[in-house]
Amino acid sequence: MMEKNWPLWLPLRDDLQSLSPYGAPQVPASATLNTNENPYAPSPALAQAIADRIHRVSQNLNRYPDRDAVVLRGALAKFINSLSGTNLSSDQIWAANGSNEIIQSLFMAFGERPALGFTPSYSMHPLIAKVIGVKWFDGGRREDFSLDIEKAKREIVEVKPALTFITTPNNPTGTTVTLEEISLLAAAAAQVNGLLIVDEAYAEFSDIPSAVTLISKYPNLVVIRTMSKAFAFAGARLGYLIANPEVVSAMFLVRLPYHLSSLTQAAAEVALEFQGELLGTVSELITSRKYVVGELEKMGLQVIPSQANFILFTGFRQEPAQLWRQLLDRDVLIRDVGLLGYLRVTIGNEAENKKFIAALQDILNGEGQ
Ligand code: PMP
Repeated sequence: MMEKNWPLWLPLRDDLQSLSPYGAPQVPASATLNTNENPYAPSPALAQAIADRIHRVSQNLNRYPDRDAVVLRGALAKFINSLSGTNLSSDQIWAANGSNEIIQSLFMAFGERPALGFTPSYSMHPLIAKVIGVKWFDGGRREDFSLDIEKAKREIVEVKPALTFITTPNNPTGTTVTLEEISLLAAAAAQVNGLLIVDEAYAEFSDIPSAVTLISKYPNLVVIRTMSKAFAFAGARLGYLIANPEVVSAMFLVRLPYHLSSLTQAAAEVALEFQGELLGTVSELITSRKYVVGELEKMGLQVIPSQANFILFTGFRQEPAQLWRQLLDRDVLIRDVGLLGYLRVTIGNEAENKKFIAALQDILNGEGQ
């Protein structure tokens, strides 16, 4: 994108002038496989239950919402405890408008010292750091996108970050780190009085246990989760963190009053009541992931082993931007994440996956590959 020329009369911060707004291209396509959403819409029963609850809550919209989202945070604690066998209480949960807002709040509360992350990873971590004015260090990854834990530990000791970010499964690679590795990084972060932030946006798709089980041992460990992916609730905007109660107390300092609307809280509470139905799509998506990976490999492409609802693939001849465009010309929208030689595709429903595979075959065959 061309750098924008801001007018002189606009007192925009110097460090923001060269930025462009984040976001995947929002173009219509019959297979929308670009933002790692869950392709399955809420059932009519869930949609009706949300509408009923919203109707009830609407009768009180002259009043501000529960500022502390007590009921919702309790329901989230119960949900995580049932998934991970933990004994977390609601004072260990903080909820916000998507996990992006959680990330922003972490930088606002703990951003005096630098932050450290390991790219390629979720690009909003450094971008939100920049907008908040937090210095960001990139530790990098091995060529196969795995994390070099010993190197990462050394970097933590050198940089002394207040926040170290790990994403597992990682976006855009789909790769994971083990609980032992997370423990080592949490211990290294503790040595420099830093927090280890484990972004588990895609955890439900992975067979690695959640790092929430380590919070009782490492008070400096913070886990971020979202209802946007496995939970199929991206439009409602609900993300949360799980941490030591002192971390949550710090969130109260930086949150805007009434940041989470009563409509959002109500919709999320209903969705948690339907968790069986919503998470029911996870195993289906994992099966579809295996199918898509198999089909790509049959075409001679290479896929990074993924434990998420998306895959990163390579082995095509053209530039990523060109293949992205060729797919869009066939009504299939995937994601160019700016990695040389790679493209990312979200696992969709059966029709979308088939459309993607057929379009890719058509393009590659057309080139005599
Ligand atoms: N973390 C990661 C790793 C993500 O990939 C995303 C969404 N792409 C988010 C956080 C933000 O999700 P949301 O704000 O919808 O919760």
